[in-house]
Amino acid sequence: MSSQTFPYSGNYEMNGKSTENGAYRNGNAKELLRPLSQECNYVPLHKRIQKRINAGDPFFSLEFFPPKTTQGVVNFFNRVERLREGGPMFVDVTWHMGSDPANLNKETSSSSIAAGCLDFCRVDTMLHITCAQYTKEQTMKNLEQCKEMGIRNLLALRGDLPQQDENPIVYKYRALDMIRWTVEQFGDYFTIAASGYPMGHPEAPSYAADLQYLKSKVEAGAQFIITQLFFEEAVFEKFVRDCREIGITVPIIPGIMPIGGYENIRRIAELSKLTIPDWLLNALEPIKQNDEAVRNYGIHLATQLCRNLLNKKTAPSVHIYTMNRESACREILQNLGLWQQTSIRALPWVPHGGHHPIRCREDVRPIFWAARPKSYIYRTKDWDEFPNGRLGNISSPAFGDLKEYYLFYLKGQTTKEDQLKMYGHELQSIEDVQKVFINFLTQQENENGVKVTKLPWNEQENTQEETRLINEQLLWCNNNGIITINSQPAVNGAPSTDPLVGWGQPGGYCYQKAYLEFFTSRENAEALHTLLPAYKRINYHIINHDASIDWTNSAPTTPIAVTWGVFPGQEIAQPTVVDPLSFRVWKDEAYDAWLSHWAHLYPEQSSSRAILQQIHDEWCLVTLVDNDFPQPVILYDILEKMLQQVADSKKINEQLQS
Ligand SMILES: Cc1cc2nc3c(=O)[nH]c(=O)nc-3n(C[C@H](O)[C@H](O)[C@H](O)COP(=O)(O)OP(=O)(O)OC[C@H]3O[C@@H](n4cnc5c(N)ncnc54)[C@H](O)[C@@H]3O)c2cc1C
Repeated sequence: MSSQTFPYSGNYEMNGKSTENGAYRNGNAKELLRPLSQECNYVPLHKRIQKRINAGDPFFSLEFFPPKTTQGVVNFFNRVERLREGGPMFVDVTWHMGSDPANLNKETSSSSIAAGCLDFCRVDTMLHITCAQYTKEQTMKNLEQCKEMGIRNLLALRGDLPQQDENPIVYKYRALDMIRWTVEQFGDYFTIAASGYPMGHPEAPSYAADLQYLKSKVEAGAQFIITQLFFEEAVFEKFVRDCREIGITVPIIPGIMPIGGYENIRRIAELSKLTIPDWLLNALEPIKQNDEAVRNYGIHLATQLCRNLLNKKTAPSVHIYTMNRESACREILQNLGLWQQTSIRALPWVPHGGHHPIRCREDVRPIFWAARPKSYIYRTKDWDEFPNGRLGNISSPAFGDLKEYYLFYLKGQTTKEDQLKMYGHELQSIEDVQKVFINFLTQQENENGVKVTKLPWNEQENTQEETRLINEQLLWCNNNGIITINSQPAVNGAPSTDPLVGWGQPGGYCYQKAYLEFFTSRENAEALHTLLPAYKRINYHIINHDASIDWTNSAPTTPIAVTWGVFPGQEIAQPTVVDPLSFRVWKDEAYDAWLSHWAHLYPEQSSSRAILQQIHDEWCLVTLVDNDFPQPVILYDILEKMLQQVADSKKINEQLQS
């Protein structure tokens, strides 16, 4: 196939096209755009908070509670990831006794959810932790576990006491005890926050005694205070004034609860033993049956309250009790101008930033997991070291198993019926499978009236923006039995600010080698294998499901950089590689997707299952890298020759037989 047929088969031309919705936005760009390969100097949360306060730069944080179901967990992480785009300083997860909060084997526990926020949503995470229900030994174990999980921030709490005190031995501890133990045992490892009650804690002997107790918590090691919700600005103002008067100097961050519903706010106030002021009840009374009106009023009130607190500098930031709701929270932050979404990509994949204790050093990833970053994070979660700057050790640590946890991620997001609508209720031929990939690329509605928004190999909906640059070539492939699951165009020195293929600090230049990964029939793969030795500029790897075919011309353990960037005053950054060792690990996952994420949708003896099983059993998975990135890409020309060769030999066979 000639390169004229594919307008982009040469180098990517920098045309300054803008995109409204870059695939890899991140809100914490300021923090993430550190020079690559730089050792990560972890800055504790309380110091970063202080720095923002000193600079007069207001910020926000978001509180979530653990979702109840596994399906809920998947949606939850997607929500947190979307909210992360606005640039929260941190998110925090409540310690919910009903969730079996310390149990890391339970997906819905507070600890698992906090670990997921840190690992999968890549956001600085604080875990609430209570001590009243535990012995000192149990609490110390919980704290140790937080450390092992990589959590660096705690909200140290007593927790609510049950109505009937069934275990007086355990219920003797309060937040102050836990703060002392934490500092004694862990020194300054954790940033510790404490709760504050603008109207006094309901069990406190008096408001003044509660303030003195709060002062003790700060003296014991609490580095900032997050308050209980309140309804009136004056209440918070007075609380801050009173705290300062008795010598509490740490930041005091107001907890803001947007009213989400009439009954809901009444119940929360009752549980927290708070009185809702009359003016608020009167305002809600006429609209209480209209959920939409209450919600809008809640957004208006929260915006006004936050704006006043920030403008008057009574509060340095706002802490939103999100109640796991997304849109109201986003609206409030946008109203306040605190939502900091930016289209700058720190790397071609989304890095964790400086707050993750281990992953902050991660600078290199194999390209194979580009559409499944959560799976990659999960499968590498036990690594104590990540490839950093150099590529040599990318494959040395073992990858975690392809287990349930990552499967639940991928399965949970779309219902079976929605998947069947996208992938077809019945597959009768390989062409039906090809059609799914074509619909994914064209984003046109299929015969069921839906768009194929994600393939079994994608964790999230929609393709990467840059894929649009080679859409025509990919369509040609998928129309011709070359089923593509990953690709990137060649790029020769795009400015790092380019909206489609740029990443990293401004002032740099980005490069890519053309890459293509696809499934194809064994006869196509065999023909390709005979053709490839004539093309020295191509690196290839051809493998099948059980690796009885494993053909490559790459050195056994040497990764090939397929994306790199040159930035002023820095070493060359090489964040994406193709390497034979991790490809063999990826191979199992890629093949598994045919069965676990697609074939399982159909009855056992169906033709649909048989077709997908046949692809799994008989087809090869191929990667091609065109190393000559300044020249027009030749991958598609080679593939055209492959198809021609197969067609020619079929013809000869037919002639011989006739
Ligand atoms: C921001 C925030 C987040 C929360 N998150 C959670 C959560 O995730 N999970 C959960 O179960 N609950 C949570 N709670 C609720 C909290 O657990 C309850 O309010 C609980 O009743 C008190 O916990 P505490 O840590 O504030 O208690 P503490 O700070 O230990 O105070 C408890 C009470 O003891 C009094 N007290 C103790 N010693 C003295 C003394 N010497 N003199 C005078 N008074 C004393 C205090 O004044 C107060 O009344 C949260 C509360 C807040 C404000």
